[in-house]
Amino acid sequence: MKKVYYPLAGMNYIVDDLAKIIENKAEGKETINLWLSAQVNSFPHIGTLTNFISAFALAKHYEEYFGKPVKIIVELLESVTGKEEIINNIRYYTNSEKTILDSGERVKDKYFPYFEELLERLKKLNDVDYEIKFFYEYQQDPLVKDALIEVIQNTDKLKNILDPKKGEIRLRFGCPKCGLTEKHLVHTKINSISNDNLSLSSYCPNHGEFRININKDSNDTFDMNVPLRYLVKVMYFIRRNNLNNELNVIVDGGDWSGMWPLRVYMEPLLTLGYTESPSVIYTPTILDWSGSKLSKRMYVGNEAYREFLKEGLINYSEFYNQYGEVGFERIYNEIHEWIKDPKRFIRDYTIEYMDAVLRGEEITKLN
Ligand SMILES: [Zn+2]
Repeated sequence: MKKVYYPLAGMNYIVDDLAKIIENKAEGKETINLWLSAQVNSFPHIGTLTNFISAFALAKHYEEYFGKPVKIIVELLESVTGKEEIINNIRYYTNSEKTILDSGERVKDKYFPYFEELLERLKKLNDVDYEIKFFYEYQQDPLVKDALIEVIQNTDKLKNILDPKKGEIRLRFGCPKCGLTEKHLVHTKINSISNDNLSLSSYCPNHGEFRININKDSNDTFDMNVPLRYLVKVMYFIRRNNLNNELNVIVDGGDWSGMWPLRVYMEPLLTLGYTESPSVIYTPTILDWSGSKLSKRMYVGNEAYREFLKEGLINYSEFYNQYGEVGFERIYNEIHEWIKDPKRFIRDYTIEYMDAVLRGEEITKLN
């Protein structure tokens, strides 16, 4: 029989309950929001499931522990790449809303129902409410724009922290006619910036120059690359925590822990003179046999992971065919066990382990 060990590591030395991670910051706050985030350009996989089930279980636990309302906010990124192409040696993408598949469907519409089904299921099982915030809706919040403008105003101080490779702060936006968006900032330029308005221009190979404005009344949409999006988000959280007397917490996969938060938001926050830090909880990362994060096929190629013959792990549309409802129950119960014991939660798991749980294999857990 397989045996699992739980050696103490990192945070496990200092917490005996996952509520302790945010307890000091939750004090005096009226509500707690746990923020999930996902790209709507591929099927949820076992890593997404782990992250989502964990967040709902944490919400339930925090509600009981703190005696305050806890809500899940799911940030769904429709601004992300639906497809990429190279025109005149410049890399462009169109987002998941503008990219049409051969079937005639938009990328976003193909994948969104799977996220919704999973969220509805978790809402009912946990009796925890959630709210979906698409990125284009989220970015209209004046506090988000305010944070973004602060970052762009400090481009010189932040560009090499956020992007040591190229020194770019990648705020991008697509052609209003066809959606083509530069991946890197070749033609995208800042025309003017003040405390309350940012004016930018870019160029489409098919339709010529186009411009947008970002200010508290503007409706123009934009995209941010991952480090910029993270930094703006934590600056937004700090603003929102104070304004609404609430605690906003990122619930992210563990692959975003480690050097990333130190570099991508703690260093910039200190550089900008902030005296508050964001709250983040990392859920276990699901690793492949080699110890690498299980990725979306979009990023590692369409043939990836097919050798395992475990399509249900990679593709939620196949999950129930492979593991059935009982599989979902097993993984749901397993993750709810993790939440009770930080040693089981603050660590990673492999796809072999998850597969064993889903199949109901007996495992000896040695505390
Ligand atoms: Zn165009």
